Amino acid sequence: MAIDVKKIEEHIRGILEALGENPDREGLVDTPKRVAKMYEEVFEGQNYSNDEIAEMFGTTFEEDFYVSEDSREMVMMKDIDIFSHCEHHLALMYNMRVSVAYIPKERIIGLSKIARISDMVGRRLQLQERIGSDIAEIMQKVTKSEDVAVIIEGEHGCMTVRGIKKTNAKTVTTTLRGKFKTDETLYNKLILQLFR
Ligand SMILES: [Zn+2]
Repeated sequence: MAIDVKKIEEHIRGILEALGENPDREGLVDTPKRVAKMYEEVFEGQNYSNDEIAEMFGTTFEEDFYVSEDSREMVMMKDIDIFSHCEHHLALMYNMRVSVAYIPKERIIGLSKIARISDMVGRRLQLQERIGSDIAEIMQKVTKSEDVAVIIEGEHGCMTVRGIKKTNAKTVTTTLRGKFKTDETLYNKLILQLFR
């Protein structure tokens, strides 16, 4: 479903009125239009399902190669910076760093694709936990490997500027699939890579 930009404009105008503002004054007259345009961009991921994202970033394999049995070592892309918005407050989730690891089964995918997948998943109304499980699911579809781990660290606007105002609080979530869940040696390797 495409984002309804006109409808967002109307509602932002309504919010401005509810805030006691005059939406026709000079500084605000184009605000509904600007916000709607911004939303269209920062919520682009709303347009696609996980399957569609997997298809978008998983169908071209020019830089990919097949891996032999004995070289199936963990591949990790660390510290991909993304942003998102929490679905509870529409507040910005920022300073987010995503690390994605997987054990190649049939093929290695381009590292830029892992970054693009993470970025697009962030462009939805989200919860940090779900960003992790969505990325893991898409990675499983694209790589055909069950063994995927996603670790995310982030700060949430709804924690830092309102409510309990913990400005330094970071939320860390870990999503483990396949062998990352069951193989302790592999898990330790993941943690070691993550913090070195
Ligand atoms: Zn929130």
